[in-house]
Amino acid sequence: MIPLLLQDVHRRDDKYCTYVILWDCGSMSMLRVRWFQSMSAVVFAAALSLAGCSIHKQVVSSTDIQVKGQQQVLWKPDYAYVYSPEQIDLSSQAIFGAAGDLLQWQQKPRRRLRLQAAEIQRHFRVRLASRKSFRNDFATVNNDTYILESAKLPLPLTYSISRWTPLRNGLSGPVIVAFDGHGDCGGECTGKVPERMFQRNGFGRQLVQRGWSVIGVPTAIHKPLSKFHVTFDYPLIWAALATLVVHQATPPSSTPRDLIYLGNAIGGLTAAAASIIDPRSMATVTNGAFFPLEFTRHHYRIKDHTLCHDMRDFASYVPFYALLYPLPLMIQVGEEDGLWMGHGPVKSSDWFSGLPRGATSDETVGAALLLERLWTRTGQDFSLAVHPGGHEDLDVSRADQFLRPLLPGNSKRHTLSR
Ligand SMILES: [Zn+2]
Repeated sequence: MIPLLLQDVHRRDDKYCTYVILWDCGSMSMLRVRWFQSMSAVVFAAALSLAGCSIHKQVVSSTDIQVKGQQQVLWKPDYAYVYSPEQIDLSSQAIFGAAGDLLQWQQKPRRRLRLQAAEIQRHFRVRLASRKSFRNDFATVNNDTYILESAKLPLPLTYSISRWTPLRNGLSGPVIVAFDGHGDCGGECTGKVPERMFQRNGFGRQLVQRGWSVIGVPTAIHKPLSKFHVTFDYPLIWAALATLVVHQATPPSSTPRDLIYLGNAIGGLTAAAASIIDPRSMATVTNGAFFPLEFTRHHYRIKDHTLCHDMRDFASYVPFYALLYPLPLMIQVGEEDGLWMGHGPVKSSDWFSGLPRGATSDETVGAALLLERLWTRTGQDFSLAVHPGGHEDLDVSRADQFLRPLLPGNSKRHTLSR
């Protein structure tokens, strides 16, 4: 029994791992323990054994252990993954009261994220290492490579951004800061220049061809930043690094809000986090980054970066996204996205845990309608854009349509400050 318990202690990694010990010292008793109490449980069980009690059963209940054939497959980070005891959620007043109640509700969680971002940034020294410029038939391209140094990194991180400025018919005004998903780099990105978004039919390239200036910024860098992930969520880490470098690369313009954060899949969560922490943000567009957080916490695991989409302080993505109010917000989702409504179970594979069920309409559309209420109550711009594509198929046409009214000289102005 004790070796069994020890084996299970070794496996503990998140708050959902619970095990129950039943023992008999004359009468049957039961203890339910969480991972953080697991060592105490081993000592406790050892003491019971020494006292001559019989341990009848220990039941491990963990969503991280899945039975695949005869083998238990475990998807876990290699450290204790700790959730905040208080999960941030909207208050009833923020939902049903006036806009001022929502603004007031935002203060504490936004300050928390901004402090966390500042704490991450404090660990880094940033220097420009090289700048390469070239021109193609429709844009000037500047690839700037920065070196990010930190005592918490195994090696300095080479971090390259790519700024594309249209040669003709460029729109004056805000610059789009764009993030791509895991698909840009086969899961583990390194900090190299984002490429896929600027390739043929890439969303960044299409935006430039429509006149927008776009800065492609790396995301989905896990391994080198894993020490930071012990404490901070990956989307926030990537957002903190992005804003640090983008601010260095683009001095503020004459308007206080001059950046639009736009992202695809995990890059969408990064874009939202960047928009929350950066006072220069004027709008946010995400694609494939709005799905039931609590559902994925329980059931969705990608090998090697199991919960990299998680925001540990939050009860769901609704309060996370609500921190973007009152700035214009477009949430895009693909009808074919397995995390959007209407999908059944998904089989597991050697890199993916699979899903026991699809997401439900209230977890997806219901959550979006709640956000829509917050925005439209005061006439702010909110759009839930369901497009025919899949998880990482950002719809450029609809993003362009949504963002164009925000250009200088257009009538859309945002009256509420935050
Ligand atoms: Zn990841």
